[in-house]
Amino acid sequence: MDLEEQSVIVTGGSSGIGKAMAERFIEEGADVVIGDIDVESGQEVAEEIGAEFVECDVSDYEQVENLVEKAVEENGKLDCMVNNAGIGSVKNIEEMEIEDYHSTISVDLDGVMYGCKAATPHLKETEGCIINIASIYGLVGDIGSTAYNAAKGGVVNLTRSVADDLAQYNIRVNSICPGFVDTPMTDEALKDGDFKDHVLNNTPLGRVAQPEEIAGVAVFLASEEASYITGVNLPVDGGWTSH
Ligand code: NAD
Repeated sequence: MDLEEQSVIVTGGSSGIGKAMAERFIEEGADVVIGDIDVESGQEVAEEIGAEFVECDVSDYEQVENLVEKAVEENGKLDCMVNNAGIGSVKNIEEMEIEDYHSTISVDLDGVMYGCKAATPHLKETEGCIINIASIYGLVGDIGSTAYNAAKGGVVNLTRSVADDLAQYNIRVNSICPGFVDTPMTDEALKDGDFKDHVLNNTPLGRVAQPEEIAGVAVFLASEEASYITGVNLPVDGGWTSH
């Protein structure tokens, strides 16, 4: 898929799914700016794959605006905003402190909305697109991660609503809803045998995904091949939400 000279921002691109997406966008010819709170890994990854790096905490709107401005300065425009940065939270409604709830929402939901808002003026000029990384947990519930699931549910309906708002500018807005993916976020949890059984028993394909399997879908959604797709929350989940 040809993304030659497309200008793409990937938040949370220092690790896991974000890193795989940044790498794949570059392979397809795009110019990529990674925005991440982890400066050391971010700079390392950017150098390794040929991206630019901007320090950014997505839970702070001014920092997200700065990320977008820097990317536009660097590459002259913005074609695709990928709102991927996120944190896990494995506490149920009884265990969760109110603070845990707010800090999860501020990264996993507010951060995505900030990315959509800050990118919009620039995407209007390019008729570009937004890709949000939600989760199966935006589409269905599960035990043990109340705040995360609430945030991802928010991302799913935010995606539909922003898609409706921006369709008039020919800006497409979609989300990807991954099942379990082999990244540092899930590393620890999947070492727990019972939890791993829970995951594999609920995944008809019987395995977790590799980050590259999400990256390929992001590239498709950003490409002309997806020119009539907007407002979609696409499960990439080995069948989790179908069974
Ligand atoms: P990861 O932990 O490997 O990467 C997350 C990245 O986000 C890291 O580089 C981290 O530094 C960055 N980040 C965290 N807080 C940030 C902040 N406030 N500002 C900027 N950057 C910040 O995790 P991952 O598995 O690659 O997750 C990426 C996205 O995919 C997340 O939104 C996650 O919820 C979602 N997701 C992951 C899975 C999975 O199984 N791994 C499944 C569904 C959805």
